[in-house]
Amino acid sequence: MQKIMAVNAGSSSIKFQLLSMPEEIVIASGLIERIGLEDANVTIKYNDKKHEAVQPIKDHAVGVKLVLKMLIELKIVDSLEEITGVGHRVVQGGEFFQDAAIINEAVIQKIADLKDLAPLHNPAHITGIKAFQEALPKVIQVAVFDTTFHQTMEKETFMYATPYEYYEKYGVRKYGFHGTSHNFVAQECAKLLNKKDSKIIICHIGNGASLCAVKDGKSIDTSMGLTPLEGIPMGTRTGNLDPTLIDLISTKENKSVNDILNVFNKKSGYIGISGVSHDARDLTKGMNEGNERCKLAFDIQAKRIVDYIASYYVLLGGCDAICFTAGIGENVWHLRENIINRLAVLGAKLDTEKNKTVYGSQELISHKDSKIKVFVIPTNEEVMIARDVIKKMA
Ligand code: ADP
Repeated sequence: MQKIMAVNAGSSSIKFQLLSMPEEIVIASGLIERIGLEDANVTIKYNDKKHEAVQPIKDHAVGVKLVLKMLIELKIVDSLEEITGVGHRVVQGGEFFQDAAIINEAVIQKIADLKDLAPLHNPAHITGIKAFQEALPKVIQVAVFDTTFHQTMEKETFMYATPYEYYEKYGVRKYGFHGTSHNFVAQECAKLLNKKDSKIIICHIGNGASLCAVKDGKSIDTSMGLTPLEGIPMGTRTGNLDPTLIDLISTKENKSVNDILNVFNKKSGYIGISGVSHDARDLTKGMNEGNERCKLAFDIQAKRIVDYIASYYVLLGGCDAICFTAGIGENVWHLRENIINRLAVLGAKLDTEKNKTVYGSQELISHKDSKIKVFVIPTNEEVMIARDVIKKMA
């Protein structure tokens, strides 16, 4: 048995899970928030218990040491030597990382070099990696990339029709994200289908949302692009739009390109259309109370998701299963119904009553007569990260 830490470090937060492997059991999970502030917050959940502390945390290194100390004080581990590996989620691995990588100086440098493609994420991941290296210097650390799973896309799929030199000079292409989640769900779905060659479409719908076409376990297309902005509308992101909009809005509202990209990333999607919230629960409430714009936000998203599913159906040459995952995919039955009802022409049919009862559990929700199986499969990115660490330790 090994204890492996799966870590997701942001600019002012660190999320982690301590897993017992290979059993894939969560021993503890936690979150450090507001790093850099006087009232930083540490939460650790274990054995149905919750420990919370508010105190100043100067930086990531201090936060990590504090969490490790708490793991001992709370008797979650007897000594830090029990933690034998740490896996770090890294958003952008570019074309360089075709697999998870054992972290050394060269790997850190390469992650840093990719910062132009993920300016908000990669530098924060490095801060997290360094904090864990300092606190656990003898422990193997592994970087697990959101982009790796999509590196199997064909060139005709990942290239934009921009001048070719942008690809050569700046790495401008579609990378795709949520790869760890899509990979996990694809593997679970393949087990459920019990079929060697499978054609699967995954709808990862959380605050961020993306689709993935998976053929025989490999990603052949995905909806996010150079950055997570491309694809379907999300909690706060537009998804695809006509780039000419940037010029129009900057002229009319006297905004910089950065301001407008901020609007496209943070003030659009559910929140932009509804004016109510980016959260699916608030939107559902609004919709049920007759707010037309809350309903419209879901309808726009459902329509665009179906556009992608239809195009992936053709690309895959059929479809064995559609899977819903992440916060909204796992919990919002009316959106799943909205989507699958639009796919009747492909022979997809929901078990409408069953669908309404599924919240966050793995279930088949299609009708027995459906030509495409429809599943809800809760995602588990932490387990995928821990699996990659174990693979690299072998
Ligand atoms: P991310 O990881 O991208 O931040 P999540 O996968 O956690 O996003 O999804 C967040 C979304 O899931 C929010 O819109 C939230 O309303 C929705 N969600 C989570 N749990 C539930 C639930 N039980 N019922 C309805 N919606 C939920």
